Amino acid sequence: LGPTITAGEILVEIMSTSIGAGFMEPQSLIGPFPSGAPAIFIDQVARLGSPAGIISAVGEDDFGRLNIERLKRDGADVTAIEILPDMPTGSAFVRYREDGARDFVFNIAKSASGMIRMTENARTLIGRAGHVHVMGSAFAIPGIAEILMEAVAVVKSRGGSVSFDPNIRKELLAGQEDARRRLDQILAVTDLLLPSGEELAIAAGVDDEAEAVGKLLSSGVAEIVLKRGAKGSSCFVAGQHLDCPAFIVEEVDPTGAGDCFGATYVTCRRQGKSPEDALRYANAAGARTVTRRGPMEGVSSFAELDEFIHANRSDN
Ligand code: ATP
Repeated sequence: LGPTITAGEILVEIMSTSIGAGFMEPQSLIGPFPSGAPAIFIDQVARLGSPAGIISAVGEDDFGRLNIERLKRDGADVTAIEILPDMPTGSAFVRYREDGARDFVFNIAKSASGMIRMTENARTLIGRAGHVHVMGSAFAIPGIAEILMEAVAVVKSRGGSVSFDPNIRKELLAGQEDARRRLDQILAVTDLLLPSGEELAIAAGVDDEAEAVGKLLSSGVAEIVLKRGAKGSSCFVAGQHLDCPAFIVEEVDPTGAGDCFGATYVTCRRQGKSPEDALRYANAAGARTVTRRGPMEGVSSFAELDEFIHANRSDN
């Protein structure tokens, strides 16, 4: 299997320890935690023992080193992460509200992550890849859509596959008139779609779930996996509809659940596991992630997932 690859932002996340809206008064913060949806995804694939690599950029600073060291430790290919001496590594500040909603302050556009470009090392990684995972959050970075579409074309021409997590963050999409055009461009080459919440309706352009799923499947998407947070997940593939309830855990920090879930589902399917097994492993990966503070702190190995699933069996 050629590596699973993606391109996009690498950040540190710094999190408020108090619950409430916004950052308008001094508050206690924790972090830095390695972060960036594409980085979390790739770290989780690597942690499962599957080859994985990311095209990205960081600054020549501790925030960049922290991310590279974590990705390397977990087994990811970091050769296509460019280190830019004159730019800071990106950062995101997050604060949780009472209802679990999040407020973000992003520093991406004017960070190394805003300068990701196609390099020789990136081309070499694409040349070996067997699967491209596209994340909607990365579209906010100038030039990233072109890198991802080039990777998709190369990998597809060799018989590889593509997954897509729309991961639409309104803060990142603001002012992006061509967001819809990009969405349609990616959907046209997507084999596996991993939407959450209203992203399914946005992608399909219809509100009703069954109708949206039907429309996307008939447009050429082979497999759709819906992430339903604490309600678990569902999968639609080859005429099958599977629902998998969530594991019951205490949610401490939901950030990263969708990325770890997606990485686990993609990896299981690439390894030939059934949709049912993939869904169970992915649900376990998502559940473990929400029990840890920090978006990349809850990534799991297969041994950890097996242990978690065994300990949380409904017949226990
Ligand atoms: P994010 O954008 O925050 O990374 P997402 O919206 O893409 O997340 P979610 O639906 O929140 O994705 O989470 C993905 C999966 O993780 C869910 O389908 C579920 O299996 C698991 N999960 C998430 N939250 C919980 C929870 N509170 N309890 C148990 N499992 C959870």
